[in-house]
Amino acid sequence: MRIINPATEEMIEDVAEDNRLTLSNKFQLLKQAQHSWQHTALTDRIKTIQGFSALLETNLETLAGILTSEVGKPLQQSRNELKGAITRIQWLTQNAEQYLAGEWMKAETNPEEKFVYEPLGVVCNISAWNYPYLVGVNVFVPALIAGNAVMYKPSEYATLTGLEINKLLKKAGVPDAVFQLAIGAGAVGDALLHLPFDGYFFTGSYKTGKLVYEKAALKMVPCQCELGGKDPLYVAEDVRDIKDTAISAAEGAFYNSGQSCCSVERIYVHEKVYDRFVHEFVQEVKSWKIGLPTGEGVFIGPLTRKEQLAVLDQQVREAVRRGAFVLTGGKRPTHKGYYFEPTVLVNVTNDMSLMQDESFGPMIGIMKVADDEEAVKWMQDTEYGLTASVYSSNKQRAEGILEQLNVGTGYWNCCDRVSAALPWSGRNHSGIGATLSYIGLRAFTKTKAYHLKNPG
Ligand code: NDP
Repeated sequence: MRIINPATEEMIEDVAEDNRLTLSNKFQLLKQAQHSWQHTALTDRIKTIQGFSALLETNLETLAGILTSEVGKPLQQSRNELKGAITRIQWLTQNAEQYLAGEWMKAETNPEEKFVYEPLGVVCNISAWNYPYLVGVNVFVPALIAGNAVMYKPSEYATLTGLEINKLLKKAGVPDAVFQLAIGAGAVGDALLHLPFDGYFFTGSYKTGKLVYEKAALKMVPCQCELGGKDPLYVAEDVRDIKDTAISAAEGAFYNSGQSCCSVERIYVHEKVYDRFVHEFVQEVKSWKIGLPTGEGVFIGPLTRKEQLAVLDQQVREAVRRGAFVLTGGKRPTHKGYYFEPTVLVNVTNDMSLMQDESFGPMIGIMKVADDEEAVKWMQDTEYGLTASVYSSNKQRAEGILEQLNVGTGYWNCCDRVSAALPWSGRNHSGIGATLSYIGLRAFTKTKAYHLKNPG
């Protein structure tokens, strides 16, 4: 499998892919090793993962460079991702003991009643490329802490990062057979669905997630899917500072070239502040440096996947054909690399592909609305349900709007952020289940209840 640098289109490395036989052998290794890992003290498993986190920190510059070379995100954003992963691991390791401890429900009665959390067993983690450290850590860290053995399939676009993760986990002391890599593209992911894992944890698109969920259903094992989004942001007329709001919204839409599951993908603005907001927003977008992701001060790098360029192109064409205006961007630059100019469209309607289908690129449609009621109507006109944001100086008003939306996360005066202490979950086509928080720590366990009757 050829690993391509999306900024230069040059090959970085040729990596050998797994096949059904190697995957099956790795699965057997995991199966044999899981029991002893489960019976390693929880405190020791936590210490091992803390060691992994320390190694991420020590090797941050090298790892950031590798990540940037294969996914194309600006180097500073790769560093940010690693720092974010370290913070997440800190929360997960500091809280694991508390939330994985069993509970006595009736300690004084006969029978006594208690329950404990046991690991699922051998779990499969099929992961995405856009934040391989963050979305990986959401799954394999709590899974390992809980005593599971893990088969980790990095996306083919984040293979080198997957190899580094494997190396550092082993260096930190995770037994070789407890964590195994599945290297390859979609066919390798599919092959994993034919092995008898005790749980599947998938991060990726709705299209693939649905396939994974259907196949896992036949096995009667837990399956969680963290999928895409078409996340809306509403700017009310009472925002305190239009410029700050525009800058925050623009960053939420374009960070990592818009390739975040919780990127802002649609913006609705109250008509009273619409013109000023659009002006500030476009000014901000035009101020960014676009170029090689290793360049100083670059904010917009190439897309990771070449195929997405055609999706963006098609969304712009359709929108323009139906009356939208391009205020900036709208096309690919002529130089090498999978670049697309940061693009802002107005005069859009909610039935355009740009406002319905995940763009997953540096592109946004902005629409004028008359009031909160109209904003809510358009915000909930979607098949997705990951996040939604409301910018307003009135908390009650914002919460009132967010309550009406079928999303896993609501933001007031912020967007595109994740906290390790809060459950990360999507609804409808954005997925099923949750990672992070105490819910995400327990997601990799099954409960066992005990009724203990003293014969005396
Ligand atoms: P994909 O669905 O294309 O791929 C996800 C993973 O599934 C990859 O490892 C992929 O392998 C693998 N895969 C592909 N085909 C199959 C198959 N038939 N059976 C099993 N596995 C398969 O998603 P992307 O990697 O492109 O990620 C982008 C998507 O992920 C976006 O929709 C984004 O919103 C979403 N996402 C959601 C997050 C959340 O927390 N809700 C977080 C991050 C991303 P390969 O890549 O090698 O083909």
